[in-house]
Amino acid sequence: MQCDMDSLTLSAYLDGELSESEAETIQAHIDDCPRCQDELAQLQQVTHSVQMSLSTVAVPEDLQNRILLTIKEIHQGAQARRLLLVYGCCLALVVVGVFWLAFSPFGKFVRVMFRLGFAAGHSAVQLVATGGAVWPTVIVVLSVLLGIASVTGVVRMLKSSEVTV
Ligand SMILES: [Zn+2]
Repeated sequence: MQCDMDSLTLSAYLDGELSESEAETIQAHIDDCPRCQDELAQLQQVTHSVQMSLSTVAVPEDLQNRILLTIKEIHQGAQARRLLLVYGCCLALVVVGVFWLAFSPFGKFVRVMFRLGFAAGHSAVQLVATGGAVWPTVIVVLSVLLGIASVTGVVRMLKSSEVTV
């Protein structure tokens, strides 16, 4: 008898993956085909051996806890790396900002303006503290004029430095 049955079809038959009519056709063939009977027996033996070896593998009782713990550690590690990246970026921005304030012409202008603002505030507090006396008023007015002159000078200096750059 000529047999063109392939192993995949026999395996599917053995695993119950075929339709009822397909299974009946295969069964009828197997009943008349010694080659397929031998192959089916071998497949059943392999399947049985695999099932027996699988059933003897003992699963550790704490496996689930260890898996959950590992997942938690991986998640925490990723979160820590993300936070580190954010903090690193913030630190880099602060460093760049400090260098920019320290060395750029606009940074010098910001520092001068801060000092002028501080001096003007200090003078205003002194003026209020002395009750509006004449000399402090004169000093404050002169300070404000000096501040305006300074700002004008700084702006001119910055404009001239921009032209040379
Ligand atoms: Zn056959």
